[in-house]
Amino acid sequence: MEPLKNIDVLIDGGMILSMNKDRQVIDKGAIAISGDSIVQVFSSDQLSKDQAAKKVINAEGMVVIPGLINAHSHLAMTLFRGLLEDLELHRWLEKVWKYELSSLNEENVCVGSKLALAEMIRGGVTCAHDMYWYYEAVMALSEEIGFRLISGPPITGIGGLDFDSMVAQARNVLENAEKYHYVIPIIQAHSTYTTTPRMMDTVLELKEEFGVAFTTHASENKSEVEDVTERFGLTPIELLQSYKLLDDKTILAHCVQLNDEEIEMLSESGTHVAHCPESNLKLGAGIARIGEMLEAGINVCIGTDGPASNNDLDLFGEMRTAALVQKGLYNDPKILKAIEVLEMATINGAKAYGIDHLTGSIEPGKKADIVLVDFRKTHLTPRNDVYANLVYSATKADVSTVLIDGRLQMEAGELVAFDEDALMADVQSISDKFE
Ligand SMILES: [Zn+2]
Repeated sequence: MEPLKNIDVLIDGGMILSMNKDRQVIDKGAIAISGDSIVQVFSSDQLSKDQAAKKVINAEGMVVIPGLINAHSHLAMTLFRGLLEDLELHRWLEKVWKYELSSLNEENVCVGSKLALAEMIRGGVTCAHDMYWYYEAVMALSEEIGFRLISGPPITGIGGLDFDSMVAQARNVLENAEKYHYVIPIIQAHSTYTTTPRMMDTVLELKEEFGVAFTTHASENKSEVEDVTERFGLTPIELLQSYKLLDDKTILAHCVQLNDEEIEMLSESGTHVAHCPESNLKLGAGIARIGEMLEAGINVCIGTDGPASNNDLDLFGEMRTAALVQKGLYNDPKILKAIEVLEMATINGAKAYGIDHLTGSIEPGKKADIVLVDFRKTHLTPRNDVYANLVYSATKADVSTVLIDGRLQMEAGELVAFDEDALMADVQSISDKFE
């Protein structure tokens, strides 16, 4: 092979799990990166001896995967980690809102979000969804760090904010979307139980006008479904359909309590599901019927939810939990193979948010969002089934090196853009003041 020109980073010698359409695996491969993009993916044998690159990353002993995508989260809730234990969703929300409305400001939300970004990069996450207060400041933070963030205005009745100014701010952010490089702007609503029909009409209007994706929480637990049904005469899923908000640009978080008809409705409309198994288990909400959703052809991605209900932003842990609980739920070990779980944490998340042309797999033309997992470990030996090792044996501590948009964010276990000690001290002192 002729040497490639203008190669900035060359990752050489690792086993590449491309997650491309053919799920191609290269036993000993190389990835050439120019600027922010992947130029070529090939076997290391084909590598010319004269290949020049500004930086060469030796990936021997590593498994190289696409950056993981956390499809549902609330980043700054790192601040509340461990503060809201053993509570059912309704009581949990009451307490969260109390803390949020009394204690949060733009500054501490940014500190909490920054800790979340550091935690996620350490865990091989290169792109994450965020739904939270002070979203514009967190979008700016993400641009500064160089982290791919899916975020945008969350329309909600929580906190009694002035609706017109909420919409004016939302419109302003969406109108200026082109100023962002790392942020993927979307429109959000907290849920059907914290919004009015008028708010949801506005959400639909903004979604259609700006052609952005939409996400909301839906059917997280039984009492939510009962409350919404009592108030509106429709379940959350039926209500979203009546708002014309079910389609292939909508991502619903949770979907734990769905009946057969609702699974059919999501399938027919092309609606995506963000599965958050650990948060659902911890809040006692139940287990989503992911096996049947996949059977129905629904695109399911995976999220951690906020660290106050999980209590971390660890997609390795989430992948393992997802696989294990589905096998247990259906008494069937064939449900959710390891490769399908990795699909949920990579390419499916990208498809859900309409960014699979940018990220979610390792292929020429896509952005270089790449994670090296160090397999030179006792618990990852032998390597009989690399997908099984990744899902059932690996932990986020095995992540060694992380690139986002071609930029090194972690190299051999060292974060590039964070002073972690200072950051942890800041978060602790903010959290100490919560009452
Ligand atoms: Zn959530």
